[in-house]
Amino acid sequence: MASQTGAIVQQSLNALMGDRTFLPNLQEQARVQAFQSLAAILSTPNKVHKAFLRITLDSGDVVRIPAYRIQHNDTLGPYKGGIRFHESVNEDEVTNLAALMTLKNALHEVPFGGGKGGVVINPRRYSAKELYLICKKYVQYFSDVLGPDKDIPAPDMGTGEREMDWMMAEYKSIHPGQPYLGSFTGKSVVSGGSLGRREATGKGVYFTFRYMLHDYLKTQGSRLAGSGNPFARTALAHADRPLSIAVQGFGNVGSVAALEAYNCPHLANKVVAVSDRNVTLYNPDGLRIPVLIEYAAHNRGDLPTGEDALAELGLKAQILGREDVLYLDAEVLILAALEDQIRKDNVGRVKANIIVEGANAPVTGEADEALAARGAIVIPDILANAGGVIVSYFEWLQGRETQFYSEDEVHKLLFAKMETTLSGILPAYFGDVAPLRRNCYNHAVMKLSTVLYRLGKLY
Ligand code: GLU
Repeated sequence: MASQTGAIVQQSLNALMGDRTFLPNLQEQARVQAFQSLAAILSTPNKVHKAFLRITLDSGDVVRIPAYRIQHNDTLGPYKGGIRFHESVNEDEVTNLAALMTLKNALHEVPFGGGKGGVVINPRRYSAKELYLICKKYVQYFSDVLGPDKDIPAPDMGTGEREMDWMMAEYKSIHPGQPYLGSFTGKSVVSGGSLGRREATGKGVYFTFRYMLHDYLKTQGSRLAGSGNPFARTALAHADRPLSIAVQGFGNVGSVAALEAYNCPHLANKVVAVSDRNVTLYNPDGLRIPVLIEYAAHNRGDLPTGEDALAELGLKAQILGREDVLYLDAEVLILAALEDQIRKDNVGRVKANIIVEGANAPVTGEADEALAARGAIVIPDILANAGGVIVSYFEWLQGRETQFYSEDEVHKLLFAKMETTLSGILPAYFGDVAPLRRNCYNHAVMKLSTVLYRLGKLY
């Protein structure tokens, strides 16, 4: 497990070890042994699968592309997690992301374990036919270890409905006569996917932010006002007034979160900046997000990069470098691009005091501590971006029952599930001085540890 997740899991285990209500009946030596087992189980993946996918490109050249499926932990159910297509994919990164899935599912009580896949390609450089072959090959190589009750992949960066449809079709032809709808989630609706899955992560990201800064404070605000807790102070300073929001990343997560913020009926927020791999667009009076979404849909997902394109859209915005989004005068920063965006070396330049992790691991451990020390609130990935996997779970259930819910029902169920998690976590967070991430990890590790103990796995 890469260092950040590993270090925080270790901290969670230390906290749990100090809690004498956990495993109270064990003798000291047996207790120490149990914690050693826990640390060993959570700090390493159960299985690492690696293959080189052999593909004949359109040019006739034959290449072998490295691909992974890493199964971190299945204590709570079948392994579950996305498949990433990105040129920076490597074993350490996929392992770390798989561990995050174990914790994310435990935190939200989703009955799945954690896994992750990756293929080392830049999907923009491949034709649709080549991508189709890569998807087929991925399933052929890993078909023995995948399945609705074994390991259920989903989209991640660089993959979407199209890839999941192709993969499920390949799974079905390799396993004729077997149930297959639950083998992949994030499929298109016509192929047995769930309504509302595509928007689920972005909607969940914005919901988490809104719940913490609005709904929760409406009932708990007066109690928190006297607490003197630094995070409560920050939350109350941002409560019930229009906020300026910057969003890094304009893919499936960032664009939907930006649209939710733009349309939010509860808070007259302004989305003052959005960014993608090319540019940041900034307007302190607010950007018209629907126009930008429409533009991106017709331009390979990219934002406009020139004055002419903006003028044609009737939009006013400053065109800045892609990293500039991190340092603007915005009160809220939603990170929905890659990992490691806010680090020790640039955290001092970040002005926002509310940071929401739509991506996985965009804030490093050191930056997280530095932000907490100044009272900034970082809503961590495993809390904020779980909408995708929660609706994946609903998709998997619907596939089993072959009975499908409306989009409205899906989003209601999603928000209810996230609210249950938040209401379990927030009282402790606003009574403590540790980053919210640590709180969430403690909760997830406690759940996993209790189940592992009950299953007799800690001897
Ligand atoms: N890739 C998404 C995540 O990181 C979704 C995973 C899933 O639906 O299984 O949470």
